[in-house]
Amino acid sequence: SAYIEFRNVKKIYKMGEVEIEALAGVDFSIDKGEFVVIAGASGAGKSTILNILGGMDSLTSGNIFVDGKEISGYTSRQLTTYRRYDIGFVFQFYNLVQNLTVRENVELATQICKEPLDIDQTIEAVGLRERSRNFPAQLSGGEQQRVAIARALAKNPKLLLCDEPTGALDYNTGKQVLKLLQDTCRKQKVTVIVITHNLALAPMGDKVIHVKNGRIESIEINENPMPVE
Ligand code: ADP
Ligand code: ADP
Repeated sequence: SAYIEFRNVKKIYKMGEVEIEALAGVDFSIDKGEFVVIAGASGAGKSTILNILGGMDSLTSGNIFVDGKEISGYTSRQLTTYRRYDIGFVFQFYNLVQNLTVRENVELATQICKEPLDIDQTIEAVGLRERSRNFPAQLSGGEQQRVAIARALAKNPKLLLCDEPTGALDYNTGKQVLKLLQDTCRKQKVTVIVITHNLALAPMGDKVIHVKNGRIESIEINENPMPVE
């Protein structure tokens, strides 16, 4: 059976009298080890999907299963454990701690998880061994995002959720970051989900879920996903 399953997931934000239907009944499934792109215009509902899947936001109705467990039934305490142990997050603006070095940023993430990977090997794997003692402000944007990826991976997560990971990078740097994510997915058997408004990224996904106005517009399966050059 599928590793991740969304069944008729709805999300309504209530702001006083006003209701905003961010997700109007979303169904999809994702297999273990898939590299998935969730694509759609701004406001389509991509972040809402990612935030709910990552246990950072609640859903209004529907069911979500991850690895055989119904996370949509979790208490907030169970969600905290799930976020901490099972999920790695990568954000558009890196969210690194500025007064910690690269190594310290990665180390910090490993302190709250059960079975962390080796810190230095993880930094090496993202190509930043020489940068271990630098501070984030001394690195380029692409390098900072690689630190953020190392930090997320060092937790040894089952699932890596990436919110516009290339959104703040130029085209070529963005492609390198995506290649790192694609390689990681292949080599470490981590399931990787990337959300983006940039359709140029879509052919890289094993699966591309197109979202529009809170609904699934289409789901593309790429038998031969485009490798990032
Ligand atoms: P995307 O990530 O595709 O840009 P979002 O998931 O952020 O889209 O937003 C989907 C819809 O939900 C939008 O109409 C957005 O304005 C609304 N929305 C998102 N977050 C909130 C919130 N915290 N409160 C109210 N409305 C929200
Ligand atoms: P980009 O090409 O992504 O814009 P930059 O031009 O900012 O990157 O940086 C190019 C290289 O110089 C990168 O390897 C970056 O790590 C390094 N670098 C930039 N600023 C500093 C700094 N203050 N201290 C050390 N290295 C730096």
